[in-house]
Amino acid sequence: MNPPLEPTTPTAKRSPALDPYALRGDFPALHQEVNGHPLAYLDNAATTQKPEAVLEALLRYYREDNANVHRGIHELSRRATEAYEGSRARIAEWIGAEGPEEVVWTRGTTEAINLVAASWGGSNLSEGDEILLTEMEHHSNIVPWQLIAERTGARLRYVELDEEGRLRLDQLPELLTERTKLMAVSHVSNALGTINPVPEIARLVHERGALLLVDGAQGAAHHPVDVKALGCDFYAFSGHKLMGPTGIGALWGREELLDAMPPYQGGGEMIRVVKPDMSTWAALPHKFEAGTPNIAGAVAMRVAVDYLDRIGPEAVLEHEQSLVGYALERLREIPGIRLYGPPDPEERSGVVSFSLQDAHPHDVATILDTEGVAIRAGHHCAQLVMRRYQVSATTRASFYLYNTREEVDRLMDGLDAVQSIFGSTGTQ
Ligand code: PLP
Repeated sequence: MNPPLEPTTPTAKRSPALDPYALRGDFPALHQEVNGHPLAYLDNAATTQKPEAVLEALLRYYREDNANVHRGIHELSRRATEAYEGSRARIAEWIGAEGPEEVVWTRGTTEAINLVAASWGGSNLSEGDEILLTEMEHHSNIVPWQLIAERTGARLRYVELDEEGRLRLDQLPELLTERTKLMAVSHVSNALGTINPVPEIARLVHERGALLLVDGAQGAAHHPVDVKALGCDFYAFSGHKLMGPTGIGALWGREELLDAMPPYQGGGEMIRVVKPDMSTWAALPHKFEAGTPNIAGAVAMRVAVDYLDRIGPEAVLEHEQSLVGYALERLREIPGIRLYGPPDPEERSGVVSFSLQDAHPHDVATILDTEGVAIRAGHHCAQLVMRRYQVSATTRASFYLYNTREEVDRLMDGLDAVQSIFGSTGTQ
């Protein structure tokens, strides 16, 4: 096993405000026509487009360095291992981890949460213990806990949402009990855009002696992340939400917690010694990485992180909030529209969710698609949010660093077309 490489820092300077028009040149997928119109890609909470540098990194890896990691004593394997472990070190540095051993590569946020639920949950939960979730969670931060609760007899409890899409933090003192072992909460809601006050939640959770897992799928891509400042114990995120490839993501965990957890999956790479009736485990983080990993994905995710870091997550959030502010202002002009999430753009990242009375969200999305505007309609894998607001689906536009005010105008023009077809006058 190679020692971790020194992290590198990007050389370019951070700019205080970003220029989406200049950045768009880096994203080949944005330069196409869809249904006879220039593409306005407003589905970034589902996945983001990839800059040329990320695409190049993927291709270069396969063209020049392709080999398995940690295994072969030959040049290509050395290069692949260096790039793979170098990416880990860079990600660790980027999120403020103590070191690369605290960063486990996973397929994404979903696998990272399943890892903690199965491994930590399987060895720490028993009958009557409580796991605290929230109504805001993506299914990825609910179902893994349901599975482990069923196996261990633990009980799930939920913090509710208020009318404006914020967590009812006033419920925490009552919901956090001496039986609570862990709380799992999203950093940013994919369905509402709400940014949660993680440090405040962490303080309350730790006062009760419980652990805090943060689902950072919508956090790391849009928001500066420093796991120490957040005060959490686990942080899960995905590469594809921050301009990296699909099928790669990471789990950060405090070293002593990861160290005490049993492996999640068994196979090559994660062992020290294998005997007929027992095996011993490799050191962190390899104990959690069974089998040949997504090497190219990890290598390219680092390039995405470098790209994001050069722009500066603060500038990205500021840009998204200005687009959200503009979109909300314009959406409020539509008679009878129902908007979800906090009214103040400063409380959210680049997501706007809404519904019209007379047009089903799927019809809205279909009509917008004919205009070249890509948005999302449905429950956004957040059925508890839909249940809270008594709707089956919402329409969601989600912005990223390359989106412009003109694209918000395109969304509004598309909604005009929807209204002229359906004549929306009230709320759903
Ligand atoms: N959590 C949230 C808040 C999300 O938005 C998503 C994806 O949309 C996930 C978890 C799951 O991420 P992935 O599918 O990359 O594992």
